[in-house]
Amino acid sequence: MSQYFIDVILPVPIQKTFTYSINKSEANFIKKGMRVAVSFGKNKIYTALVFAIHNTPPTVYEAKEIYQILDQHPIVNELQLQHWQWISDYYMCSLGEVYRAALPAAFLLESETVIYKHKNFKDEDTLTDDEFLIFEALQHQSHLTIQQVVDILEKKKVFRVIDELLKKSAIYVEEKIYETYKPKLVKYVKLNSAYHKDEALQELLKTVSRAQKQKEVILSYFQLKASKKPIKAKDLQAQSNASSAVLKALVDKNIFEFYYLQTDRIQYQGNTKSLKALTTFQEEAFATIKESFQQKDVTLLHGVTGSGKTEVYVKLIQEVIDMGKQILFLLPEIALTTQIISRLQNYFGNYISVFHSKYSIHERVEVWNNLLANKPKAQIILGTRSAVFLPFSNLGLIIIDEEHETSYKQFKPSPRYNARDAAIVLGGMQKAKTLLGSATPSVESYFNATQQKYGFATLTRRFGGVQLPKIELIDIKEKHRKKLMTNHFSDTMLQLINEALLEKEQVILFQNRRGFSPVVECTTCGTSPQCPNCDVSLTYHKFKKELKCHYCNYQRAMVNTCNACGSNTIDTKGFGTEQIESELNELFPDYTIGRMDLDTTRGKYGYQKIIEAFEAQEIDILVGTQMLSKGLDFKNVSLVGVLNADTLLNFPDFRAHERAYQLMVQVSGRAGRVKKQGKVAIQTYNPYHTILQQVSTTNYIEMYQQQLQDRWQYHYPPYYRLIKITLKHRNYITVTTGVDWLAKALQNVFKENALGPSEPSISRIRNQYLKNMVIKIEPKQSLEKTKTELKKIRNTFQAIKEFKSIQFIIDVDAY
Ligand code: ADP
Ligand code: ZN
Ligand code: ZN
Repeated sequence: MSQYFIDVILPVPIQKTFTYSINKSEANFIKKGMRVAVSFGKNKIYTALVFAIHNTPPTVYEAKEIYQILDQHPIVNELQLQHWQWISDYYMCSLGEVYRAALPAAFLLESETVIYKHKNFKDEDTLTDDEFLIFEALQHQSHLTIQQVVDILEKKKVFRVIDELLKKSAIYVEEKIYETYKPKLVKYVKLNSAYHKDEALQELLKTVSRAQKQKEVILSYFQLKASKKPIKAKDLQAQSNASSAVLKALVDKNIFEFYYLQTDRIQYQGNTKSLKALTTFQEEAFATIKESFQQKDVTLLHGVTGSGKTEVYVKLIQEVIDMGKQILFLLPEIALTTQIISRLQNYFGNYISVFHSKYSIHERVEVWNNLLANKPKAQIILGTRSAVFLPFSNLGLIIIDEEHETSYKQFKPSPRYNARDAAIVLGGMQKAKTLLGSATPSVESYFNATQQKYGFATLTRRFGGVQLPKIELIDIKEKHRKKLMTNHFSDTMLQLINEALLEKEQVILFQNRRGFSPVVECTTCGTSPQCPNCDVSLTYHKFKKELKCHYCNYQRAMVNTCNACGSNTIDTKGFGTEQIESELNELFPDYTIGRMDLDTTRGKYGYQKIIEAFEAQEIDILVGTQMLSKGLDFKNVSLVGVLNADTLLNFPDFRAHERAYQLMVQVSGRAGRVKKQGKVAIQTYNPYHTILQQVSTTNYIEMYQQQLQDRWQYHYPPYYRLIKITLKHRNYITVTTGVDWLAKALQNVFKENALGPSEPSISRIRNQYLKNMVIKIEPKQSLEKTKTELKKIRNTFQAIKEFKSIQFIIDVDAY
């Protein structure tokens, strides 16, 4: 007789799948990708996902039976599971962590303990007051949840009471599972079938002839019925101008009936337009992309800001829709979706579904289900990084807009994946083509294109022949000396703002930080102390008054005088968007100032409100962080100002210069997009800095070549790969002992390519001390083998008793 088993993925951080036993009829029903409820650990019930079905019992434990099957059909398909497996292997995390990240929370049912009374319990005298209160409550209702017990006893800690009641056999408990997704139901009305005959209807009208309101409702019903569509109760009320009470009276009289239909929460209403005709340049790029797709799976489109990349995407999407295949359109940030959604909806109407974390769990479940059912309305998915986890079955095209954006990388929690890279792999598995688009491609993607790994297309002109903005560098060292600064504004910047406002044009001002920054800067010359080994700025550790390198742990005492210019004007404080906003309010009292940063964009429609107000020109000057550098398309912005470019350049990261270039060129790209050439003013202490020179001439190639040289010299991507390991613990000594052990073990295997230990600039987060190690992987070294070695070391580490409680975090491609 054969036995049946399933391996399931559990939503807990264990490394492996877990095996449960099932009976024969369950085995006939269960399929990979269905959810089952199982108990794991101390009697907790989890929603697990079936990963494999087989006949081999586990060797080291006895397989428990499952609790119940939760699905009729799989909710995760085979291709998804394959993709999750890749993510788990590549990013060195468990399948459970991928599963948790992938499924909308509403799919992960929760279990709750429910308490029932034992019928034949009679010894009420033995109960304490608290116990009696619970027992008493169970006389009146069949069961109680833990929350209800908490409410009754008016205290948080109720487990002891429940425990006692259990011991005395007064109660028993059960785990109840409930689903948190509720489909949205819409109320419809129809006429009772008794009145379908003409005579009956005449009779009816006679009886209500004196009830004027009711008669009106019935007549309106027939007007609406002419359209032959189901009639919503809401519409009938509106049409007849009746209250819900009147309608209800008619239902009570059995004249009307209510019924409910499930509907999707998000629906597009409106007419679609035909696609714009492409310009010759766009046509050329389009043709190049299609040609390169003949041979290559991935193509990079390098198109300057405002060149109309979106119109090219749209053309490609149309072709894939016509083929009946699915499209995934990835954006780095929710802020961007607002504009793109409406642009795409204009063309594709109800073929589009949107998926991101600001949507409610219900809306996300709907998108998931529509996609699973391969519905037309989910043929185009527009989403942020977690959209790569959706149940695609028939992908034809993936578009990754602003592919250089770092927000594609998830740093916390695990899986620490890069959605761009995960999407490229997804494309490969689904035999779909992938297009990466950017005005400022990442060094690694451009490198892949030059290595012929990716195809390549360009758009070098803005739509309508508008010239790229004119970029002016303003030397604020000079301005300070000549006393031409008002707070953080130079006279030149103020003059440019004034000119724009007088022309009734809008202004965007960019300031990269919200608050305190750990990078130290000289306010006279703008220099920031550098690490001699790593080519990054040192960070300031307030506590020990030291300057340290993030990467190699080089350190020195905090300096008082500037190395470069000798002044003692070393500053550790930055200024943020909020301060700029209040300065502007004083300087331009007659104009409306808006602010867009993490603080002002909370809530579901936070971004949308600010963006729409700016589009409607209700805001004259918009101040913001890098959020507003990303692909937004405003028609009336003629000036973009960068208040302090040096903070970008001094960022302690090997990609600081690449990012500074991307940010400044992107934010500049918001100026003068459709009408006339825009202006960009960049305030800096170092107008001769090579990156700023490259920005001012928008010379991407020069920036790229120089960065590539640096990366080669200092052993960084795209030549070397990086894996970062972070240890975390409440006790400083424990984590230090742990990381010293780890450093030795890693250096034993990886020699000089194991860097550290080092402390991150914020070395203690929520009472946890952090220590880092970095492994650099040489171009020819096998990534696979490196990971195997690392896993071995991790397992040994975690087997050491005193290190058991240390968190061991691995971040693959930690940049
Ligand atoms: P990018 O994404 O490359 O920065 P967009 O796609 O936002 O550029 O295009 C910039 C502006 O030019 C948009 O307002 C867009 O509607 C307009 N545009 C681009 N291509 C065309 C075209 N072929 N016909 C009409 N308008 C276009
Ligand atoms: Zn200085
Ligand atoms: Zn260093």
